Amino acid sequence: MPLTVRLKVIFIVFLYLSLFVLSVLLSVYLNPVLIAIPVILLVLGIYLVFIFYPKFDPTGFTLYRLKKGKNNIAFTFDDGPDPFVTPVVLDILKEYSVKATFFCLGFKAEKYPDIIRRIREEGHILANHGYSHTKLHNKSYGFILSEIERSEKVLEPLSLLNGKRLFRSPHGFKNFTLMKILKRNNYILAGWTRGIWDSDGSEPEILLRRALHYLEDGVIFLFHDGRDIEGRGMNIAEFLRKFIPLVREKGYNITDNLSG
Ligand SMILES: [Zn+2]
Repeated sequence: MPLTVRLKVIFIVFLYLSLFVLSVLLSVYLNPVLIAIPVILLVLGIYLVFIFYPKFDPTGFTLYRLKKGKNNIAFTFDDGPDPFVTPVVLDILKEYSVKATFFCLGFKAEKYPDIIRRIREEGHILANHGYSHTKLHNKSYGFILSEIERSEKVLEPLSLLNGKRLFRSPHGFKNFTLMKILKRNNYILAGWTRGIWDSDGSEPEILLRRALHYLEDGVIFLFHDGRDIEGRGMNIAEFLRKFIPLVREKGYNITDNLSG
């Protein structure tokens, strides 16, 4: 996690804990009725973590890690297809016989149907990342459904995992409305275990250091083959060339079966 983001998270957690402790002290020393404030803060805090932290899902609906014990890891690519980056990524994956999951955006897939076809034909998992990459946690039922369906129409046929399609929410933000829609429409909500912050434009060597730090049995990596500006993000390709041989040297298998 980049330092600026880490500092932001530390600040928010510090602020939250300060408010929580203060409200507990007020209820103890001022009026016991005030205990309602820390209780509300606690419930609100848990709900906000549920919305914004992809790995926190007490309902068990979000898939964010592979089963442990097989030394399997998975590569997932978000925000493509990109006319420059995605073909290079596909070339590298082909060269090393790696299968991955591509969470594609509908509006980009509309522009580059040949790349979508190539992803499918080369045996990768084609998955839905919404149409416009709008954050969905604060949107209505109708809006969320249209984002999923518009993208679905462009990407069809989507790959199936245990008979279900895969959806990854933009930025990983989720809520109960989104989960209800996904269940009704035969989707799995796919999160990830570790991102390497490749979209911040870091050098491949830095990405490699981050990925090796997070490399462990069962990890689902989040990478990006698409950015806001086309052609940006080639750092991921250079990183992959270095990372794949190292992963294999260390005895890990790269799988596209996110439920395995
Ligand atoms: Zn995304």
